[in-house]
Amino acid sequence: MKYTKVNNAIITELSKIVGVENVITDADVLDNYAHDETPLYHTLPDVVVKPSATAEVAEIMKLASEYVIPVTPRSGGTSLSAGAVPVYAGIVLSLERMNRIKEIDTKNLMVVVEPGIITEQLGIELAKHDLFFPPDPVSLDSCMIGGNVAECAGGPRAMKYGVTKHYVLGLEAVLPTGDVIRIGGKLLKNVTGYNLLDLIVGSEGTLAVVTEATLKLLPLPKVVIALLVPFKCTEDAVGFTTDVLKVDCMPAAVEFLEGDVYRLAGQYLERKLPFNEADAHIIVELDGNDKNLLKKQYDKIGDIALKHGALDVFVAESAKDKEKVWEPRKKTSEALKTLTNPVAREDLVVPKDKIPALLQKLKECAAKHEAQLYAFGHLGDGNIHADFAYPKDAHISDERLAHMRKEVYEITLELGGALTAEHGVGLSKIRYLEMALSQTELELMKQIKKLFDPQNILNPGKIFTSL
Ligand SMILES: Cc1cc2nc3c(=O)[nH]c(=O)nc-3n(C[C@H](O)[C@H](O)[C@H](O)COP(=O)(O)OP(=O)(O)OC[C@H]3O[C@@H](n4cnc5c(N)ncnc54)[C@H](O)[C@@H]3O)c2cc1C
Repeated sequence: MKYTKVNNAIITELSKIVGVENVITDADVLDNYAHDETPLYHTLPDVVVKPSATAEVAEIMKLASEYVIPVTPRSGGTSLSAGAVPVYAGIVLSLERMNRIKEIDTKNLMVVVEPGIITEQLGIELAKHDLFFPPDPVSLDSCMIGGNVAECAGGPRAMKYGVTKHYVLGLEAVLPTGDVIRIGGKLLKNVTGYNLLDLIVGSEGTLAVVTEATLKLLPLPKVVIALLVPFKCTEDAVGFTTDVLKVDCMPAAVEFLEGDVYRLAGQYLERKLPFNEADAHIIVELDGNDKNLLKKQYDKIGDIALKHGALDVFVAESAKDKEKVWEPRKKTSEALKTLTNPVAREDLVVPKDKIPALLQKLKECAAKHEAQLYAFGHLGDGNIHADFAYPKDAHISDERLAHMRKEVYEITLELGGALTAEHGVGLSKIRYLEMALSQTELELMKQIKKLFDPQNILNPGKIFTSL
């Protein structure tokens, strides 16, 4: 596809739509929109445009459609699959100004929001009404609902509460042609025709620009308790996780940090963490409304942990202790970025019983390629984040990196897993997609993309190498 480069005449048109102050062409500022949180991907857009309303988004898409200009939607820019990188330059459509909560509906337990609201900020506002939106990506202090919807984000609490798609009831979205559609609404059940809602959720900004979302809410649990459980090896930690899920108290989260990751987080936080010598650390979060019941549950979980060889069970009830327990997990990504040189940040998922085999094989793969493996993530979901890193000054050729990643995916697929659980295909996994999907599936997906976006202008170069 031949795209038009954004020229002065187009900049003038864009300025008429959103106001000159919301059209960015300054190279230094453009650089902030040239990358997301995925290492190694960087492309400068021609222009960044910041609309404040759906009608403006529609006008921008009409203009892009008329001149055949690539448009990359962007919310918080925390993608870990290079989904927000404008690989063909063109327009970055930043939704950051569309950040209003339009309605908190306390009768129906729903909220109507614009895409640019920061996920954590939404949580703070909802808590004032004793409500919550369960999906909690670890990036929640900077990612936005638009990105969460586009990626179908998960997070630690996905184990008990599910992922973003389980909470999206309605969407307003702008199609690549500039047409505005409204799908679903404040309805908990609706099977009128094909499920376009679920098609757009998780479509990585390739089918439509989300401009409004109606989300289901739950009553905010009043009591939350965190447990830190160190183990001497990963096998023990996995055995514990499997047994914990059989008990009649579903934890809200079961998170995992391998010993090396935990120690790196400690180094980053500049404090000696408790149980520093252990080789696997599990954080269990329990939530509910009855403190005594939760206490009984964590006693039970503690017994299971000790049966599986836990070195200790630390119970955190105060806000300060909970923060201490969670901090290494919340800062893992930052610690890895600062103290190592991650060249691949994988988001693998396998059936839970295959996790020890997955970790063993990934370690062998990393050793073969002289890389260091850092494994952590949402163990309760079988979702392991595996960062492959090199020392800061080391260099790995593109060819070797591609070879290593292919092996990683072969290992995962052989264990019955998938390439990505929650970060998406984006740009970073694009060349490996054919390993995971049949030609029939791929062709169906491409036809859907063509139907929505015949000129391939919306987030082109993502998910598919060619259409
Ligand atoms: C430290 C860290 C921790 C993370 N933890 C988790 C985690 O626990 N769980 C998880 O699922 N992910 C996690 N992520 C990944 C990332 O935060 C999520 O994918 C998040 O949903 C992206 O939201 P965003 O607002 O930053 O989106 P962006 O990065 O801006 O965009 C992501 C994708 O969505 C598209 N998009 C953005 N806005 C719109 C819109 N309005 N309409 C259509 N398309 C749009 C973009 O084009 C892009 O393809 C983590 C990332 C980091 C850096």
